[in-house]
Amino acid sequence: MAKYKRICKFCGKPFETKFHNKVYCSPRCKSDNENTRKRVHPETADETKKTNDIKEDEKKVLLWLKNKPLSIGEISRRLDKSKETIIKLTDNLQNKGYDLKLDKSSKQFILEREFATAFKPLKLSTIFKRELTFGIVSDNHTGSKYQQMTILKTAYADFIQQKVAFVLHAGDITDGINMYRGQVSELFLHGADEQAEYIVEYYPKAPFKTYIISGNHDTSYKRAVGYNVVRHGICDKRDDLVFRGEESSEFDVKGLRIGILHPSGGVAYARSYRAQKIIESVVTDTINHVKDWQEKRAALPHIFIIGHYHISNYLPYYMGVATINAPCMQAQTPYLKRKGLSPELGYVIMKVVFSDMGIPIKITPDFVNCMPYIKEKDY
Ligand SMILES: [Zn+2]
Ligand SMILES: [Zn+2]
Repeated sequence: MAKYKRICKFCGKPFETKFHNKVYCSPRCKSDNENTRKRVHPETADETKKTNDIKEDEKKVLLWLKNKPLSIGEISRRLDKSKETIIKLTDNLQNKGYDLKLDKSSKQFILEREFATAFKPLKLSTIFKRELTFGIVSDNHTGSKYQQMTILKTAYADFIQQKVAFVLHAGDITDGINMYRGQVSELFLHGADEQAEYIVEYYPKAPFKTYIISGNHDTSYKRAVGYNVVRHGICDKRDDLVFRGEESSEFDVKGLRIGILHPSGGVAYARSYRAQKIIESVVTDTINHVKDWQEKRAALPHIFIIGHYHISNYLPYYMGVATINAPCMQAQTPYLKRKGLSPELGYVIMKVVFSDMGIPIKITPDFVNCMPYIKEKDY
């Protein structure tokens, strides 16, 4: 084995080695040298490593090695320099951070790769290709003395101003009948016909469609007399109001898959909790609804809208779904007050941005809080 005579780069002692690229007499000297370098230039070490002081010969070698591996002998002939000089040169390049490796079998140097130094951002106009805006309302409970028609009208005025493509209604457009003891005294409209006719006349009219599902209050007429009030009493009489199913629906709009659900039962009516407990139960229920939806249907939607809880909440990416609990449009009733429940009133404007690949890449709900504008006797 040929031996190389060297001077240790750190301590300066002469030493012999059979490895041509060894420059320190001991591992200790190697690590001490590295530590010293770190101490001397802690912040700039990386910066200077690759850019500083690349000599002409080093540049040439890098350029050659980019094209193909070369042995020490080949480099030495090309540069017309001694093998010792080439070894120093390759050592220098390694110290500067170039990924120069010696292949043992071919005895050639290989330049593994250079790291990219210029990163271009993606074109924003490409990843944010088109936008879709739509509105969400829920739980008007029309016919209840605690309905808030002014807030509903305001929501639609905003929807028109924001140029929404459509509105989704997550159920309980009517207050229904026989929902709980004492409901009768909370109503100013009694029965399916009174509530439906009122909605046909006074529900805000708009240039876009509102897609509606029935909630458990609406289906109270179905349970009592077999009548689908949302479909026949309301949507058959208004072109802009479209019936989409009972208590749940899903559909595709312009590359977006949307699920809507109006569960029955659950926290809003079953149990009385303090505010913190209520939101915890709503989130737990919501998570269960997402799991349930996945079990029963082929695919999860991009956006999942849930009515019925009368509480606003946004769960941005549970199981890849943006889930919205829609606020309501009915003030606290004596019934809710007895249970210690405070509803949240408002509406939502959804902004969805699609990438050039048609993927909803940005989903932003604007929850509009209408609590300060609750009116007494808004009927
Ligand atoms: Zn409701
Ligand atoms: Zn409900």
